[in-house]
Amino acid sequence: MKIKILGCSGNFVGKHRTTAFLINDSFLIDAGTVTEAISRRGLKKIKQILISHTHIDHVKGLFPLVDELVMMGDYSIELISVPQILEIITKNLLNNLIWPDFTVIPSASKAVIRPRGIPMEELTGLGQVSVKPVLMTHTVYTVGFVVREGERGFMFTSDTGPTKRFWEVASEEKEIEFIMADVSFPDRLADLATISGHMTPSMLMEHIDRYDLGSRFFYVTHIKPVFAREILEEIKASGRRNIGILRQGETLVV
Ligand SMILES: [Zn+2]
Ligand SMILES: [Zn+2]
Repeated sequence: MKIKILGCSGNFVGKHRTTAFLINDSFLIDAGTVTEAISRRGLKKIKQILISHTHIDHVKGLFPLVDELVMMGDYSIELISVPQILEIITKNLLNNLIWPDFTVIPSASKAVIRPRGIPMEELTGLGQVSVKPVLMTHTVYTVGFVVREGERGFMFTSDTGPTKRFWEVASEEKEIEFIMADVSFPDRLADLATISGHMTPSMLMEHIDRYDLGSRFFYVTHIKPVFAREILEEIKASGRRNIGILRQGETLVV
């Protein structure tokens, strides 16, 4: 499985782009960054988009993408998540007020967006990859994921504060290669992290220890650009060699 990191920042500012991971050129996890990072030829290869939650930094790329696909002709994508999240998107974003309802454009039978609900905590096969959503602790309804191709795979917290179930699942998932985890704020802003549903480096480390995940590798993601240096220093100072920083533009292979 080839995972291209189109964006992994906690805000879109300057060169920093927000969460979107392109798997095997055709399966997108979150849509924070799409048309600004993928050529027109590449856009046509995207067949499925999996959404973790409806915050704008995770969905904004969806809107120019579907607009582009409609204009290019006969293309459509599956928009995949748990039903609760799909409903927020169709009611609040694709509602003909914020953006046209592309679930019936250009026609109901040939719509460019085809929503597809998947069940919580079940592994669902979606073509090349299989996905298991897990409920997270964020300010809106949010799921993290186990993503697998065959036996190999990884986990992604999406946006989350301190939480329980995801880490229990992580300790059961012995075969996964790494876990991408939200660390948005430095330790001195632990209160802000908690009320906004994110983590600091120490919070992540506490979970790693509590759930006995010290043998796993972690990629920190969703860093707020303004705190990047501070967060980096805190991780370095911890001396933990199993925590790295996810980099925009890199491609991971599992
Ligand atoms: Zn969020
Ligand atoms: Zn976010």
